[in-house]
Formats: sequence, structure tokens, C-alpha cells
Amino acid sequence: METPPLRLACDAMCGGLARWLRALGADTFYREGVEDQDLVDLALAERRVVITSDSRMLERRVFTTREIESLALPRGLQLAEQVEFVTRKLMLKVHDARCMRCNGVLVRVAREEVGDSVPARSLLWAREFFRCGDCEHVFWDGTHWQRIAKVRARIARMSRLAGEPG
Ligand SMILES: [Zn+2]
Repeated sequence: METPPLRLACDAMCGGLARWLRALGADTFYREGVEDQDLVDLALAERRVVITSDSRMLERRVFTTREIESLALPRGLQLAEQVEFVTRKLMLKVHDARCMRCNGVLVRVAREEVGDSVPARSLLWAREFFRCGDCEHVFWDGTHWQRIAKVRARIARMSRLAGEPG
């Protein structure tokens, strides 16, 4: 049986990383300016793995006793390197993308349903539209989405290679 995907929580410094992890389909909590204690409480309540580059936070008892699992993010990594580091360390697989803004689940919607939310040009040539079930933001396969698709493909390749024996 496949283990359920990890749920993650990024600290207040890791907003960029959180957005990418969501794009890769990882259920990732992030809130701008979240206090460490709130993050810890939430991670504990929702069994989330905390990702942080704050080594002082990781000295807390909940982390040293592994009551909460954590991943120490090395400082000084570029965003792309952070994404690669986390996916490698946590052996994340690529799942359906989640809302990069709020972590909501994206639902595929028809072109006719998104006319109000998408610029006319994009409405014309985009093939796929998704709406966030939580914040209702609409995403489509524009240039930004294509960049996401490339990263998703690279990470998927990476995790496949990592999963192969020998
Ligand atoms: Zn959303």
C-alpha cells in the first residue's frame, strides 16, 4: 500500500518555496508572517513536517523529541535549489498541482466558466483552466504554467531516478 503523501508546513521565511511545493502537488501550509509558535501548534495538530532554516526553532523540544518531524533547510540556497533539496530529502512525488496562493485543491473548469477571470487573449489560446476550490483564483496554462510544468517534469524525473534500485 502506498503511504499517504506528506503534509508540509513552511516557516514564515519560506514563502517562495511553499508556492513551488504546492505547484508540485504537496499539501503545504504557509502564511505570511506566521509566528513560530502558531506554526508549531498547527504542525502538531495536522501532523505536518516543518520546513525551516531557523536552527533555533529546531532546538525546541517538540522537534528534538521528533514529536514533530522537521527538515532543516540549509541557508543560502537559491529557490530552485531549495525545491530540489526538499523533494529529494522528503522523497516527494509529483501530484496534481494545488493552489500556489492558498494550498486549496484545484478543479478543472471549462473555458465558458472563467470568462470573467481570464484576460481575453489567454482565454482564446489557453487549453486548460483550473479554479481553486478555496480562494477561487483561476489558473490557466499560460507561460507561467508552462514554467511550472517544466519544473514538475524535472522533479518527477528526479524522484523516479531516486526510486530505482542500485
Ligand atoms: Zn487558492
